[in-house]
Amino acid sequence: MAISLVETIADLRAQVAARRSAGPLGLVPTMGALHEGHASLIRQARAECATVVVTIFVNPIQFDRPEDLDRYPRSLDVDARLCESLGVDFIFAPSVAEMYPRPLECKVEVGRLTDHLCGRFRPGHFSGVATVVLKLFEIVQADRSYFGEKDAQQLAVIRRLVSDFNVPTTIVGVPTVREADGLALSSRNQRLDAGERTIAPALYHALQQVKGAIESGVASVSDLKRLAADDIPSDARLRLEYFELVDPVDFQPVERVTGPVVAAGALWVGTTRLIDNMRCVPGQS
Ligand code: AMP
Repeated sequence: MAISLVETIADLRAQVAARRSAGPLGLVPTMGALHEGHASLIRQARAECATVVVTIFVNPIQFDRPEDLDRYPRSLDVDARLCESLGVDFIFAPSVAEMYPRPLECKVEVGRLTDHLCGRFRPGHFSGVATVVLKLFEIVQADRSYFGEKDAQQLAVIRRLVSDFNVPTTIVGVPTVREADGLALSSRNQRLDAGERTIAPALYHALQQVKGAIESGVASVSDLKRLAADDIPSDARLRLEYFELVDPVDFQPVERVTGPVVAAGALWVGTTRLIDNMRCVPGQS
């Protein structure tokens, strides 16, 4: 089937309805500026579903800083070609007016899951994410929905959203895709200049040190946080916003590492904020 670019909710619903009997429907929500990380989600959806819908929407209500929204990369033509080459059936790329014809009166409120990590530093962000994803779930009504482990806190929020609101879709988490030097792929990497790009893997490196230490038995969270902070090179362009060790389900900080944890951090590289995380299991290398 040739790829179809759809811009309205009514059109998408009508076109997708005609495909439902073909088998499972897969949804891959994105903000565009697609890269190999997105491609990995799309390939998995393609392998598991009869019909694949990729949504491309830069969601204004999840941005806590207006300049981040203004600078967010947009490349619909290139994205559409990549989607076509991956065998996507529908791209849903609505306008802001289509998604938000009037200011919302109702929004999803997220609880303690977002008290730490990005939630602490980006007020309103996860409410904006949960709200737009709930709208996309309602619009597309997919059997399976694909999200990256790169955004671990987001994935945890979406899993609870689906459980708390009884959304009939299966959430599939997809492992993080990285560059050869370990940097997690991100649309925001495009903003790094050549010098910033060479130092950007610092967070990945720190995460690896912490993972190794946990695997070899270090359980003290303060020691592990110090290890991470000390591992970030002293460079005026690098600033560690947070580095935390949290429980993989409720995303609350742990005091000692006695079981699986998620190590997660946010690193400013110049004016670009990058995030990354790793699941770490004591005594398991
Ligand atoms: P975004 O366009 O950044 O909102 O991301 C759309 C989806 O792609 C989210 O579920 C992300 O977690 C996922 N994603 C982004 N980068 C990566 C990556 N490097 N590896 C795997 N998934 C990713």
